[in-house]
Amino acid sequence: MSNKLFDVNTIYAPHVQNDGWGPEVRNGVDAGTTGQNKRLEAFTCKLELPEGVDLHVMCRAHVKNKGWLDPVYDGEICGTVGEGLSLQAIQLQLSGADSDKYEIWIQVHVQNRGWMNWMSGGELAGTVGFDLQAEAIRIMVFAKGVSLKTDGVVGFVEYVAPPAADPVVNKNMAGKYFSWKELSCDCPPWKYGFGWCDGYPEQDLKNQNAPYLIDILDKVREYFGSQVIVTSMIRCQDCNDHWGGIPGSYHTTWQAVDIVVPGHSAYEVAVVANNLTGCGARYYEIDQFTHLEPPGCGVYCQQAA
Ligand SMILES: [Zn+2]
Ligand SMILES: [Zn+2]
Repeated sequence: MSNKLFDVNTIYAPHVQNDGWGPEVRNGVDAGTTGQNKRLEAFTCKLELPEGVDLHVMCRAHVKNKGWLDPVYDGEICGTVGEGLSLQAIQLQLSGADSDKYEIWIQVHVQNRGWMNWMSGGELAGTVGFDLQAEAIRIMVFAKGVSLKTDGVVGFVEYVAPPAADPVVNKNMAGKYFSWKELSCDCPPWKYGFGWCDGYPEQDLKNQNAPYLIDILDKVREYFGSQVIVTSMIRCQDCNDHWGGIPGSYHTTWQAVDIVVPGHSAYEVAVVANNLTGCGARYYEIDQFTHLEPPGCGVYCQQAA
């Protein structure tokens, strides 16, 4: 044993921007630079062990643009060389038969922050997510039971991006291209003003059935790339009766929509909607509109209105 304080000698060497490999240092001596704004790009770390002691050191590096690299061991290069990338964080851990008796400690000097706290036993040291370069390190191995930590000093910090904000939901819009007003019953004042309903009868059925048709409408709209006019979607019972719809029509349960695509025949629209979505598509040759509903009828020629 060379001395009492360091039973196990830790020997490490820095690879610094512009300077390349620096000299090996040991047991807590600075490796790298401070105050020169030079990034630490890689390092090696190995152990000099007393006779009969079985100990290995694992090193992991968090590198700019790459994230955490695979672990390396016992003097292998940890980090990158020749890529111009800074180390940002480091994890060291001991293994081997005697790893329960020893602890490895690391302290990282970080751009704009200075020396961070000592970290040990597989703790992460340095920073992640701030794009701050590590500039220097100190490493040592002690018998377990000694702590080098300073109270209130951070040894590792990671920036975690806040969750993305919810996309702005426009409550007026039913889908990407269609407003709820366009899909409403004819009752409200902005249409015929019948007043039998508020325009949106059968809320439960609306929640249950409308999304299917709205998705179809958006797809058809996207296919044609031009205006799609909704002539009728939901009809309350009274409106359905008023317009002479068949009793129990799909229109009364948010399961049918009638559309016109200017410049395209009712048949063409029916074929497109059916091909795109598999929905039922009835085309009205005389009135030239297309009625879309759940699958079943395929593309169907509906002579009568
Ligand atoms: Zn109505
Ligand atoms: Zn219809």
